[in-house]
Amino acid sequence: MENIHSHLGHSANGLLQEIRQQTAVNIQACYQCGKCSAGCPLAGEMDFPPSLLMRMIQVNKPETDEKVLGAYSMWVCLTCNTCSSRCPMEIDIPRVMDHLREKSFTLGKTNKKASPIIDFHKAFLKSIEVNGRLHELGLIVYYKMLTFRLMQDVMLAPGMLLRGKLHLFPERIRQRKQLAAIFKRTYKRRKEQEV
Ligand code: SF4
Ligand code: SF4
Repeated sequence: MENIHSHLGHSANGLLQEIRQQTAVNIQACYQCGKCSAGCPLAGEMDFPPSLLMRMIQVNKPETDEKVLGAYSMWVCLTCNTCSSRCPMEIDIPRVMDHLREKSFTLGKTNKKASPIIDFHKAFLKSIEVNGRLHELGLIVYYKMLTFRLMQDVMLAPGMLLRGKLHLFPERIRQRKQLAAIFKRTYKRRKEQEV
């Protein structure tokens, strides 16, 4: 099995230290009270509820880090902040989930079940990249192309267009050059991380 710790660029430290360094979240402070998991509206959909995910990161072993990065949990997390508002140690779990999504995607460790969610993220970002704001119809078409479900729900579109829920043409922001520069920098950074 590949050693995730060497992937992370820390021979002795894995996700635990990396998260501390890059997000300032101290997962060591978690004492497993379970309040986060008890309040999480998506815990039932997750393979590892938030408290268990925190415990797995605390273990700080390559095998558990592999499991964490391959988890489904972070992809269904809504960033609703219920967990962090209930946590007596004020652990910012949504920030950790965000870090895990990015890391898992960059290392190609994403859970197979998360593919449609990741495609939705891609379609959303493409709409922002092109228009500077969300164009719902463009997002739907691009998402359906990515997931090869172009004809699914197609009969709903005319009604939604008529009711003004969908707009045929996107509204675009003026400063698209600055936006393009942000995306260019982000793609460059991701490529550097992949090396
Ligand atoms: S932010 Fe994510 S992990 Fe926390 S309660 Fe909401 S869905 Fe659950
Ligand atoms: S609520 Fe906070 S301290 Fe309690 S299990 Fe969750 S992360 Fe750990």
